[in-house]
Amino acid sequence: MAELEDIIPRRDYKLLPHLHKKCVKCESYLFLLSHHDTISQWCGKHINPIKRSCSYCGKLFNYDELDCDVCDLEIEALADAEVGVERNEKTIRKINRKYKRGEIAEIDYQTQKEICEDEIELCTKEAERIRKHRGIGLHSEIPTQKL
Ligand SMILES: [Zn+2]
Ligand SMILES: [Zn+2]
Repeated sequence: MAELEDIIPRRDYKLLPHLHKKCVKCESYLFLLSHHDTISQWCGKHINPIKRSCSYCGKLFNYDELDCDVCDLEIEALADAEVGVERNEKTIRKINRKYKRGEIAEIDYQTQKEICEDEIELCTKEAERIRKHRGIGLHSEIPTQKL
């Protein structure tokens, strides 16, 4: 499972504040009003809460929300897939070393390696599918830590 630290750098959206031009109740000019740790717009009589909308899917949120739960489902799946690739690459390096040192039997080595390679293939395909679907450039990929 991907951790929050894997998810955040992959987020491709922002929740942007949506300002009202006029008061929704009386159409008067609005001022910014800061209260209860949040911010809204105020005409002198009516409070107009400022909403945020997701730059990717458009879902509306309260001003103090910063995460889009709709988009995060896909970003989480993307992070899972990419972390899965890294994890399996690491396992292959580990069993390669074991095999060279003669600590693992040929048959076990081949079987484990095949399982990892299948996982890598599946995860790579899934990550590519999500990136393509969301229009995330493969170039913007996070540099992975080489061990
Ligand atoms: Zn008003
Ligand atoms: Zn969204």
